[in-house]
Amino acid sequence: MSKPKIVVLGAGYAGLKTVKQLQKKNINAEIILVNKNDYHYESTQLHEVAAGTEPASKISFAITSVLDSRKVTFIQDTVTLIKKDDKKVILEKQGELNYDYLVIALGFESETFGIPGVNEFSKPLVNIVTAEACRNYLDQNLANYAKSKDEADLSIVVCGAGFTSIEYLGELTNRLPKLADKLNFPKDKVKITCIEAMPTLLPMFSEKLGTYGVDVLKKRGVEFKVGTPIKELKENTVCYEEDGELKEIKANTIIWTTGVKGSSIVGQSGFAERRGRVMVEPDLTVADYPEIFMIGDVSAVMDTESNRPFPTTAQIALKQGESVADNLAAKINNQATTTFTYKPLGTVASIGNNVGIGNVMGKEVKGYIGSIMKKNIINKSLLEVGSTKTLLKKGRFDYYR
Ligand code: FAD
Repeated sequence: MSKPKIVVLGAGYAGLKTVKQLQKKNINAEIILVNKNDYHYESTQLHEVAAGTEPASKISFAITSVLDSRKVTFIQDTVTLIKKDDKKVILEKQGELNYDYLVIALGFESETFGIPGVNEFSKPLVNIVTAEACRNYLDQNLANYAKSKDEADLSIVVCGAGFTSIEYLGELTNRLPKLADKLNFPKDKVKITCIEAMPTLLPMFSEKLGTYGVDVLKKRGVEFKVGTPIKELKENTVCYEEDGELKEIKANTIIWTTGVKGSSIVGQSGFAERRGRVMVEPDLTVADYPEIFMIGDVSAVMDTESNRPFPTTAQIALKQGESVADNLAAKINNQATTTFTYKPLGTVASIGNNVGIGNVMGKEVKGYIGSIMKKNIINKSLLEVGSTKTLLKKGRFDYYR
C-alpha cells in the first residue's frame, strides 16, 4: 500500500512549523511543502525592510536549508485553487497535485476595506516584494526633493495606526536622520502623518502603555490624526474625514497598513470564510473535511474566555503548526485527534531599535527593556522555524544601535 500523502501549503510560521515538527516524527507518510518563493520570511519584521533599517536578507532564509530532503519534498510554485471535493490542489506551473491530508497555511493579504484608490495609489506591507517596494518608493521620493523642491516629496502618510503602522513608524523615524545626510534633504521639513479611523490608538495595550508609545513617536515628529476615516486615495493625495468635513493631505509616499485578511485563495476555493478566515473545528480541521487543516492567518480559533476569535498572530500560527503535526500523526496512526489549546504569552511592539512596549506573561514592559524583550521574541521565533545556524546568522544580538 502506498504511503498517505500530506501536502502543506505555505512556508510561513504555520506551514514551516508544521513541516519541521513532522520531520521530527517517524511518520509513515510522504510530506510535500509548497510555497511560492524558495525562501521563508519573518512577516513580523517586514516593517524593517519597508522602512529600510534592515535588508530583506536579514529577515529571510532558504526554505530547503531547514528541510530534511529525505523526509520532505519542497515544491516552489503558486497555489491558484484548492479543489476540496476532489482532494486536489492546482499549482500555477506544475498543474494538479493530489493529497490525502492537506494543511492550508497561505497567510495574509492587504485589506483595503473597499476604499477607492488604495491599490493604485499606495503601497501595502504584506511580503518581501511589497516591503522592498515601500523602501524604494520612500527613498526615491526623499532623494527627489533635492531637485524638485516639492514639499510632497517630503510628505509621508501612514494609513492606519495599528500594530504594524506603529512598528513601521518606529523604524522610519529611527532611519530618517541618517537618510537625510545620505540623500541630502532637510530632515526638519519632513512631514509624517499617521491617519486612523478608530477613536483610540493601540487599544491592545493599556492606556498608559499606548500613550507612552504614541508619545515616543510624537517626539520624533509624527502627527497622529485619530477618529479620521480615510475616504479615498488619489494620486499623491489622501482624502479623509475630520469633524464631518472632507480634507486632503498631499504626500508622495503613502503606506497602507490598515489591516490584513486571510489569503483570497480560501474564498475562491469555496470555503465558508469571513475576511479570508475559516472558523475551524477544535482540532483545527475544517467542518465536513476532516482531512483538511486550516492554520495561521487563514484560520479563526474561538477564544472561549472572551467569546471572540483570537487575533491572528505569528505566536498562534506557530502553536497551531505544532498541534497539526501531532494531529496528522494521530490520524495516520488511526488515533483520535486532540483539541488545540492556546494561552497567549503576550505581545510586544517595537518602536524602532531601542524602544518597545508590550505585555509579557501578564507584566507590562516599555522602553529599552521592551526592545530587549522584542529581540528575544524574534530570536525564539527564528529558532522555531529555522535552526541554530539561522538564529546565529539572522538573530538580534545588537542590543543597542
Ligand atoms: P505567513 O507568515 O504570511 O506565511 C504564508 C506563506 O504562504 C508565505 O511564505 C507566502 O509566500 C506563502 N503563500 C502565500 N500565498 C501563496 C500561494 N498562493 N501559493 C504558494 N505560497 C503562498 N504577529 C505576532 O505574533 N507578533 C508580532 O509582533 C507581529 N508583528 C507583525 C508585524 C508586521 C509588519 C506584520 C505584517 C505582521 C505581524 N504579525 C505579528 C502577524 C504575523 O506576521 C502573522 O500573523 C503571521 O505571519 C501569520 O503566519 P502564517 O504562517 O499564517 O502566514
